[in-house]
Amino acid sequence: TAPIETLEFQSEARQLLQLMIHSIYSNKDTFLRELVSNASDALDKLRLESYRDKDLEADTSDLHIAIETDPEARTLTVRDNGIGMTRDEVVALIGTIAKSGTADFLTKLKEAKDAAASQDLIGQFGVGFYASFMVADKVTLVTRRAGGAEGVRWESTGEGTYTIQPVEDAPQGTAVTLHLKPEDTEDHLYDYTSAAKIREIVKKYSDFITWPIRMKGEGEEPETVNSMKALWARSSSEVTEDEYHEFYKHVSHDWQDPLETIRLQAEGTFEYQALLFLPSHAPMDLFLRERKRGVQLYVKRVFIMDDCESLVPEYLRFVKGVVDAQDLSLNVSREILQQDRQIQLIRRRLVKKVLSTVKTMMTADAEKYATFWREFGRAVKEGLLDDFENREAILEISSFASTHDADKPTSLRDYVSRMKEGQEHIYFMTGESRSAIENSPHMEAFRAKGYEVLVLTDPIDEMWVDAVPGFDGKQFQSIAKGQVDLESEEDKKATEVAREQRNKDFESLLTWMGTALGDTVKEVRLSSRLTTSPACIVGDTHDLTPTLEKMYRAMGQ
Ligand code: ADP
Ligand code: MG
Repeated sequence: TAPIETLEFQSEARQLLQLMIHSIYSNKDTFLRELVSNASDALDKLRLESYRDKDLEADTSDLHIAIETDPEARTLTVRDNGIGMTRDEVVALIGTIAKSGTADFLTKLKEAKDAAASQDLIGQFGVGFYASFMVADKVTLVTRRAGGAEGVRWESTGEGTYTIQPVEDAPQGTAVTLHLKPEDTEDHLYDYTSAAKIREIVKKYSDFITWPIRMKGEGEEPETVNSMKALWARSSSEVTEDEYHEFYKHVSHDWQDPLETIRLQAEGTFEYQALLFLPSHAPMDLFLRERKRGVQLYVKRVFIMDDCESLVPEYLRFVKGVVDAQDLSLNVSREILQQDRQIQLIRRRLVKKVLSTVKTMMTADAEKYATFWREFGRAVKEGLLDDFENREAILEISSFASTHDADKPTSLRDYVSRMKEGQEHIYFMTGESRSAIENSPHMEAFRAKGYEVLVLTDPIDEMWVDAVPGFDGKQFQSIAKGQVDLESEEDKKATEVAREQRNKDFESLLTWMGTALGDTVKEVRLSSRLTTSPACIVGDTHDLTPTLEKMYRAMGQ
């Protein structure tokens, strides 16, 4: 027999496995969804690879998933005849977690206050294959890469190490066998040796999988359990919300329901369907460098690629889902897609549809919108810099903290509707924190006048306020820069006289201060903006704000 190697799990993987073994996750049924989802992905990959590589020696005649239960042995097997894995792939893909944001997730998990908080985090992260260890005390995986000669057998109890061994006669694809934990006599909900129970779970979580999922009926021939219909091609009246949600979990690898489902169907000469989702929480990697975009591309029901960056702009990278285009070649590459006119048209439509969906949400379901903005607002605001065409639409769906109501961000529309008579600009101040801004002496005159000021504390705010001229014909005006004009015309004339007089009165003081402060300031002048503080430092209209200055300095510029 072939030699058995014992290898160690990567440390993040070990920590995750510990969690699964002591499973604090309440809905254990999800393990099956993960295994079926992986099997389906493996079949998608094989179909695509065999289209592209005519020399691949793979059998694609009857691609399917099979599930078998054995109540005596207490095992459950999920089998596919898809792409399979080589030995090195097994080690890399099953022995480690390659997902970005994992370290961050584990840190947060350690800090989680209670079981509910931990569950929530696990749900957001999505555990994948390791979910098997919620229900099994040993897992065996036998796999052979399509076109490869030798198979591999992987086995583990999830306790730190796994074994790996070559096998001679493994069939193409992957079989995962779970050795189920001893029966829980108190909890019959979790009897995964029951074929009826497994069928029920498959129907519930994996019905839309486009490959046949077969199970043996009453002893005889296997039958297909799922309806296999591509959800995006069905009319929305035929599809239940639950079905959309389960599909979302399959494409996004999220364990939680989406916030919103978006459908789009274009007919005619250039046909495509899109089924998109706004998640209910930001992914762990939203602001990491290696973050991915979440829309999959299909061509005529055939899976082509994950993370299709040509379909959504970077600032909408959190949008998940599927686009199925009818007229593209199955051989399209990422490079070709970037140039493709049809893809560019689809992308424009998707962006507009997402923005208009959020706009509708603002009035139709304010609470949902608030969740959306809390989770994704920082990413969406990047669009103010990148997406010139939709700038106004992005401003329309944006919210900002403001001095109007400390607990509730405001839309610009609402800000404008509250503008005082004679107020010409939309006032804002950027800074590191709300309290820093509110305690700033710049605020005094605005408070006294009853003018509302937007309180902008995200780093991205520093950037877009310089790039975006205004909203609804009103300019954005920083209260910390340049000469801020808070007076009406008549007032101005009267104060002008008074100001000249005061300037004369204080001339020697101003000259003396200017000399004393030397190069540290450009100019010392009397201010109209202070009410209680004696002095404040003001930036020139075109100067960097203190936060930007700090950012540039941190970047070494
Ligand atoms: P995810 O599906 O989110 O990538 P998983 O933990 O579910 O994470 O799976 C990890 C990886 O292992 C998959 O990305 C895939 O490359 C590989 N894998 C898992 N199951 C299979 C399978 N049945 N056939 C081929 N590869 C698989
Ligand atoms: Mg998976």
